[in-house]
Amino acid sequence: MKRFWKFPVMAFIFTALLFGALPAFAKDSGDERVIEVIRWECFVCGKQYFTFAPDDIGGKTKAEHKIPDYQQKNWVMFSDPGKSISKCPKSGDDAHMFFKKEEFKTSPYIVHERKNDYVVLKNGGPIKTKIKKWRCGLCKKDGFCFDGDDMDLWEGLIFKNPQKVFNMGSGSSIPVCNFKLITGEELKCHMVTLDSAKNYPSIEIAKLMSNLWYSD
Ligand SMILES: [Zn+2]
Ligand SMILES: [Zn+2]
Ligand SMILES: [Zn+2]
Repeated sequence: MKRFWKFPVMAFIFTALLFGALPAFAKDSGDERVIEVIRWECFVCGKQYFTFAPDDIGGKTKAEHKIPDYQQKNWVMFSDPGKSISKCPKSGDDAHMFFKKEEFKTSPYIVHERKNDYVVLKNGGPIKTKIKKWRCGLCKKDGFCFDGDDMDLWEGLIFKNPQKVFNMGSGSSIPVCNFKLITGEELKCHMVTLDSAKNYPSIEIAKLMSNLWYSD
């Protein structure tokens, strides 16, 4: 009986806490299109890559962008920044010739699904979409997410269910919050608060991958 009244009291406290610290989120759209990206296509081999806007790999933008050594040295894979972009299989000198096809907004989930098709620049400037650091006020776990991802906070209010948040690299679910209620039960969902958003170069985001998270 006791735990039945304790639970709504806890829920009230945490709800108040959350709304104090965070902007009021609308209902979870389930698929936040918050990341500005560019789709590129090689004119020679037809290979498609994506970059985080405004990272530019266009063959017409700079003379260096057509030089094979420059491509291999500066353009690396988002999913593995130690690995260079593929060599163009059809051009005589291994260099791709990229044309910008479209610039659009996509969701962190879709970026995760296509993470092997994303290129990051070793020598790039900050990208348009910002990154936020988050932290659970209860178990102190912290990590990063793209600005605009709701980190499933709405569902997070339903206690005893872990939020649907996944790792950008592995795709695995976030470990449950190990904070225990007075009753001895685990809370399971993290009480996430988000820091202010900051701009990062894409290569830095690639290096954060193991602690970069997205909601469904
Ligand atoms: Zn979401
Ligand atoms: Zn090519
Ligand atoms: Zn936690």
